[in-house]
Amino acid sequence: MIDIDGKTTVLGLIGDPVEHTLSPLIHNAVAEVDGNNTAYLPFHVYGEGLKQAIDGACALGIKGLNVTVPHKKNVMQYLDEIDALAEGIGAVNTVVFNDNGSKGYNTDALGFMRELAEAGISVENRKVIVVGAGGAANAVIHALLSANVKEILLFNRSVEKAVSVFGEYEKIKIYPLSGWRDVLVDKYPCIQCTSVGLAPNADLSPIEDAGFFEHVESVVDLIYRPAETKFMRLAREHGAEVHNGLPMLLYQAVESYQLFMNKKVSDEAVDEARKRLAEAVWQK
Ligand code: NAP
Repeated sequence: MIDIDGKTTVLGLIGDPVEHTLSPLIHNAVAEVDGNNTAYLPFHVYGEGLKQAIDGACALGIKGLNVTVPHKKNVMQYLDEIDALAEGIGAVNTVVFNDNGSKGYNTDALGFMRELAEAGISVENRKVIVVGAGGAANAVIHALLSANVKEILLFNRSVEKAVSVFGEYEKIKIYPLSGWRDVLVDKYPCIQCTSVGLAPNADLSPIEDAGFFEHVESVVDLIYRPAETKFMRLAREHGAEVHNGLPMLLYQAVESYQLFMNKKVSDEAVDEARKRLAEAVWQK
């Protein structure tokens, strides 16, 4: 339990809605294990109150905020500085307040890279499949580009939507979901970034064809509920190594906490947060 006193550093999350967030569980577990006097709270902030929320947090001496849907883009205009990776992604999920003002970061991309590294999936100079082109895919794609992938084979339901966001990138080739037949010749790491297959619709997969999965070497599915999506199961049945999105969720929070506190989170704290997160997501 956190003992709140006059020296407690306040951290939090702004979004709309925030009722189902798992972030307090992760941040408060880390604080407890590492013995940091921080308290992390959810704040339900509507779009029209976003600027006041940022100014107010600064005035109140709040040390850091996570930012979730639907404010990740809009919040950028109210910050003093934006980190280069977040600028490239065009979305901020972490705001740190200090004497120089506010600075925005994107730890979704960092969390994803940490999951890839932990899973032992190497993407440097590789062609990588990405399925989906929404907000989460955007963070993943920028992380992959910064990891020097050779090419991203991007499959999305709406080609026009994907082209409107990623059409200018030389390293990104865009196809419809059925386009894999004309393109895939080898085996590739594959990142599943659509919301298809998310509980309670666990019987769905954005691509179901066995032929597609013959080209999949490994999968990171950003969905973590259920623990194994249908997409992961199909890939596993074709011999791929598969991972869900829980480590990305954990590590984006850990990376945020490190930015808030300007110090490393211990391995013990990461393990405890992972344990509590898994219990909250899969055993309730
Ligand atoms: P989003 O911006 O709404 O994007 C949704 C994506 O799913 C788009 O590519 C969309 O295609 C596609 N899609 C939706 N319904 C579809 C359908 N019926 N058939 C085919 N494609 C469909 O959502 P997001 O924020 O990127 O989130 C995507 C998933 O990632 C969610 O399940 C979310 O829970 C998960 N996520 C996980 C983490 C983590 O830390 N593990 C972090 C963020 C998000 P169109 O462009 O054609 O509409």
